[in-house]
Amino acid sequence: MADPRLPVLLLGATGSIGQSTLDLLRRYPDRFLLAGVSARTRIDELAAIAREFETTALVVGDEAGAARLTATHPELVPRLAGVGGAGFEAMLEGAPSALVVNGLVGAVGLQPTLMALERGHDVALANKEALVVGGELVLDAARRGGATLWPVDSEHSAIAQCLRGNPRSELRRIWLTASGGPFRDHEPESLGSVTLEEILDHPNWDMGPKITVDSATMMNKGLEIIEAMLLFGTPLADVSVVIHRQSIVHSMIEFVDGSFLAQLGAPDMRIPILYALSRGEHWECDVAPMDPLRLGRLDFEAPDPRRYPCLELARRAAEAGGGAPLVLNAANEAAVAGVLDSRLSFMDIPRIIEATLARVSHAAVRSVEEALERDREARAHAAELVGQRART
Ligand code: MG
Repeated sequence: MADPRLPVLLLGATGSIGQSTLDLLRRYPDRFLLAGVSARTRIDELAAIAREFETTALVVGDEAGAARLTATHPELVPRLAGVGGAGFEAMLEGAPSALVVNGLVGAVGLQPTLMALERGHDVALANKEALVVGGELVLDAARRGGATLWPVDSEHSAIAQCLRGNPRSELRRIWLTASGGPFRDHEPESLGSVTLEEILDHPNWDMGPKITVDSATMMNKGLEIIEAMLLFGTPLADVSVVIHRQSIVHSMIEFVDGSFLAQLGAPDMRIPILYALSRGEHWECDVAPMDPLRLGRLDFEAPDPRRYPCLELARRAAEAGGGAPLVLNAANEAAVAGVLDSRLSFMDIPRIIEATLARVSHAAVRSVEEALERDREARAHAAELVGQRART
């Protein structure tokens, strides 16, 4: 009898989304088979996952990772599908009806997303940068492959759940909620001197370092505006952002008659990941029970543009369209890396992004090669600016 379990290919297995996904796969061993996993550099963790889940296809980020696997886990070498993009391609071919969970961080997730969709694999997408950078290329790959994109981002999962069964013509506005990050009560003038430790101390969500910095600047919400425009075909003017400090309402939609729908739950990424893994169903699960009787209150307020200049930069890039979101993202990735390795201060991030947006072409990209080339160009400009600021 054929195996009834859905094969899952997990990209970025050792990261935050990867770990939450594995926790869910452990809870539903009769529904999912972890057919493939990738990790960039954490080879020992990858090996442990492969042993636990009896995963038969492994992909590592580079040749150094492959050498490390060979030296330290020789018994797993027969399971190595390959290195980087070629390894992922081999993995896809070995599991033709698998669901791909993309838990990668940054624009590096674009190419595997396109490869999976083009070959007809559904993708549970946590990697919002792939959509921001690839834009129409990603939607087009899904159309050509007849594949579905399942948003894992909690806001977009919330919107998809609210929209379910309602015609798009009834939608007036999307309301993306944002926690406001660790500096929502700081005076804007004080943000130049915050420490890395403070930046990484998110009040509600436990996430990887890159997205935690993006939450503090609210660039995360800026990228999510662009993500929502693409996923739901909503114009920029119809996507609003509201700070909701409890992170219980994961987003809302407003209908043309003034009625609202919201999706609520504990701030735990396993809930939106499970909704994507189940491909749009609500399954019995006790990962993060929420007690409405203990909620107390839910607050909503407008974001202060002086505190979150990155949000405005993202809106401007969304408005410019074409390749502007790609340039925005590349500059942000370079600037965030500069903050994470303590070369830049927190408020250098919007400066680097604004200067990069002024220097690099916003012309639309028509192919993945063009996208990657523009991404390299924008990163090179941003890295130069990071180097200049780091020396001052
Ligand atoms: Mg989100």
